[in-house]
Amino acid sequence: MEKYAKHSVKPIYVVNADSEDYTDYVPDGGWLNYWRERCRYGDASFCRKCGSRSNIIGGHVEPCTQKDDGVWYSRIDIIYIVPLCSKCNNYNDPDYKKLFQVKKDDLIAVPEETIKYLLQKYVLSVTNM
Ligand SMILES: [Zn+2]
Repeated sequence: MEKYAKHSVKPIYVVNADSEDYTDYVPDGGWLNYWRERCRYGDASFCRKCGSRSNIIGGHVEPCTQKDDGVWYSRIDIIYIVPLCSKCNNYNDPDYKKLFQVKKDDLIAVPEETIKYLLQKYVLSVTNM
């Protein structure tokens, strides 16, 4: 009988997260290092959005789903780190808010405390409007 290792290669749609909030918390060694330590067999040498091999950093992305109304929504309670080039991770890039597909195995969730902190900050900013 053949034996297989289980890998999820199913791509999922993601979008760059609104990055300003993430400067508050950066793990030791940076986000790309955080990704590398957890995605053991992952290749951190190329951008998952455009394929570039220069200036790779750990970018924040939110998973997206298309609802019945045909509109794509991103989740704000799950944030993943994925290798991106500095161009694709730049808020001023015209494609910054364009959806792209990433293999599920390449998505590493940020720590739960970070999400809790960001959600709290988000709720506060909404109630203070
Ligand atoms: Zn790129």
